[in-house]
Amino acid sequence: MMKKKRDKIRIEEMIEVIMKVGQGDFSVQLELSEKDDLLDSLAMGLNMMIDDLGSTHAVEVQNEKFKQINIELEKAIDRAQESERLKTAFLANMSHEIRTPLNSILGFSELLSPDLEEGQFEDYSEIIRNSGIQLLQIIDDILDFSKLESNQLPLFFSLSNVNKIMQEVYITQKQSKKLRQSNTIQLKEPQIELSNDIYLKTDPVRLKQILNNLINNAMKFTKEGFVEFGYSIKAGAGGEMIEFYVKDTGIGISDTKQKAIFERFIQVESFSMKEGNGLGLSICKGLVELLGGSIWVESNVDEGSCFYFTLPFSDQGEMGVPEQVEQDNGKWSLSGSKVFIAEDNLNSLIYLEEVLLTEGVVVKTALDGQSLLELLKKDTPDLILLDINMPVKNGYETIAEIRKSGLTMPVIAQTAYAMPEERSMILAAGCTDYISKPIQRKKLLSLIREVLGKNSK
Ligand code: ADP
Repeated sequence: MMKKKRDKIRIEEMIEVIMKVGQGDFSVQLELSEKDDLLDSLAMGLNMMIDDLGSTHAVEVQNEKFKQINIELEKAIDRAQESERLKTAFLANMSHEIRTPLNSILGFSELLSPDLEEGQFEDYSEIIRNSGIQLLQIIDDILDFSKLESNQLPLFFSLSNVNKIMQEVYITQKQSKKLRQSNTIQLKEPQIELSNDIYLKTDPVRLKQILNNLINNAMKFTKEGFVEFGYSIKAGAGGEMIEFYVKDTGIGISDTKQKAIFERFIQVESFSMKEGNGLGLSICKGLVELLGGSIWVESNVDEGSCFYFTLPFSDQGEMGVPEQVEQDNGKWSLSGSKVFIAEDNLNSLIYLEEVLLTEGVVVKTALDGQSLLELLKKDTPDLILLDINMPVKNGYETIAEIRKSGLTMPVIAQTAYAMPEERSMILAAGCTDYISKPIQRKKLLSLIREVLGKNSK
């Protein structure tokens, strides 16, 4: 081949390589001829340049990657710090929420004395009782919240009469202190779409909890006007569903805050709160989602808010006959019934004894499981109240021995741990039923009547 032609081809090759490098391909190299001529020197120079450019580019790419990683890291640190800040704010608020009712309990207990003026004793006792209930609500909220967070909240589904639930919520709310004291807010009768009963396969206790929570909020953030709640049946993507709502004419929520209020911790810091632990709506959201629905709010500042949530009708739901009819335990007299109590905490024991004695129950007490077993050798009660956490012989060991000895009387376990797994363990161990502390007089008496009633059938 003519030298000129060969040179032309080599120059064209060089141009092609330069073009490729221009497009970011640094893997190309020029072949050298054995002639060691001027074009070879040029090719060698170009190859070296391509190598240099290649490594500079690799460094740049690496740098870009590092930059990106740094940005992600900074974001992660920001998120962690934000979360830490919110948790700290949450704890501070929680501490405040717990101290407030405690302050009343301790303060007013000190004021209780026989020289109080007429009516004062009742007033102070009422304050102490209400503060206790408030404290219990906080503990329940924290427990629910942490169970929801760890996916451990159990649901107890049953075919539930929705209109009846609405009515029960209405009655509870009508008795609320705020409503009784206010003449500027009206709670409207529940708005229901159908006059005949409809049944929903859901957890009725949790449904009531969501409604009560939303109504409490509506009351809390409304000075005057009305609070209304109800439901309607809607067609959804997955079939018919029931859409509940709670509406108020209160302060309203700005667009920017509407999403955040359902988030855990967020609201605690961002909103100036009159009262409340900031967990209510995140618990509502968690419960609604667990029950298969969704929750949202529509609101205008200074005009009011309307919270909605949906629950799906399951196959068994629809209109029909309930699976279980709630039992009416009536108020038949417990007088003359014999109850043994095993409880190591003296205050709790005295309380239980007092509650039962005022009902005319014959009571015998034991401070641990072993002493209870001794009592049982001499006498047989109609029912046993058994604490679980006791010295010498705990509740589990005691119930095991009771059942092993062939005694079949009802045993109600009472414990301060309100965890669902404990409930099933207690029942599996042989107890008839379960009540968690703090024990409310009404609940205890109703449970005793229920258990004794069943037993006598
Ligand atoms: P808490 O009521 O204990 O603060 P929630 O989670 O129930 O906690 O509510 C979070 C926040 O959402 C409230 O602090 C309040 O700012 C806002 N909010 C909730 N319900 C209403 C309502 N009906 N009207 C106006 N603001 C509300």
